[in-house]
Amino acid sequence: MTTPQISIVVPCFNESEVLGTFHTTLLAALEPIRQTFEICYVDDGSADGTRRQLSELAAADPRVRYTSFSRNFGKEAAMLAGLRMSRGDAVVLMDADLQHPPELVPRMLELHRHGYDQVVAQRDRTGEGALRTALSRVYYRLVRRCMDVHVVDGAGDFRLLSRHAVNSVLSLPESNRFSKGIFSWIGFDTASFTYRNVQRAAGTSKWGGRNLLNYGIDGLLSFNSRPLRLAIHSGLWLFLSALVYALWIIANVALNGVDAPGYTTLMTAIVALSGIQLATLGVIGEYVGRIYHEAKRRPHYVVRETDTTRTSFPSGAP
Ligand code: UDP
Ligand code: MG
Repeated sequence: MTTPQISIVVPCFNESEVLGTFHTTLLAALEPIRQTFEICYVDDGSADGTRRQLSELAAADPRVRYTSFSRNFGKEAAMLAGLRMSRGDAVVLMDADLQHPPELVPRMLELHRHGYDQVVAQRDRTGEGALRTALSRVYYRLVRRCMDVHVVDGAGDFRLLSRHAVNSVLSLPESNRFSKGIFSWIGFDTASFTYRNVQRAAGTSKWGGRNLLNYGIDGLLSFNSRPLRLAIHSGLWLFLSALVYALWIIANVALNGVDAPGYTTLMTAIVALSGIQLATLGVIGEYVGRIYHEAKRRPHYVVRETDTTRTSFPSGAP
């Protein structure tokens, strides 16, 4: 098969309930575009038959390819695997649950033809819980203040990347991958449009509150070291206020005499030293954090099988 013009990358984790519908909807949306395409599914260690479905889809249609992980490695890893797998000149990243409407793909391709290297489909927050919307707003405001890259609320992973942009994303070696930040970091001309948020067609969301919190923390930490720097700053402030406090005590002693012998020196030493210690810990933490991330150098995922490695399914396997 010659290189397709377009690749659609779809991470799937326990999506057997929607996968069939998703696939037919996607094909229906892609047939009219008159460009050759491939669909790259990444099974992120599903336990519900998603893998079997993918292998059947791949066996039936040469335009379908898949990679299956040995366990669940998370959506970031799945997207990375999909991007590595893709061969098209334009790559569209989308979810399997139909929350990223396939009908929008032709519009993204159209914008790509106008010269944009990234096309972002931004969802509004229709139908989402008020609390979640409010928390996201606060989070994005915080992220914008703290991060060195620009991240937009609602601009998720539903986007088109040119081959050039994909290669740039793949050239970033970091192990802690926060795609929203990476997509913004690589730059390029970006077009975006908004679509109405839709609910998941079937199955359940894999994002509980805890996952979201961890994702949020990853986002804040992976593009700067400001939280660590906070320790240094607070240490310095503590130290300065200890100095002021010491001066005040000394002045008090000079004017009113000693109330408890040794108290002045003791308090000053304790407060000042804690300040210096906290600041030093922050400095050390900054170095340790960097070394830790650089040193591990683990692969992002482990592949169990792909459409090319798999020959036949042992009977009774999921
Ligand atoms: N996903 C994945 N690995 C995970 C969690 C999710 O590949 O560990 C996929 C999932 O199959 C879907 C997409 O990422 O295609 C978005 O997940 P989900 O719909 O659960 O997230 P939400 O839309 O609620 O943010
Ligand atoms: Mg979803």
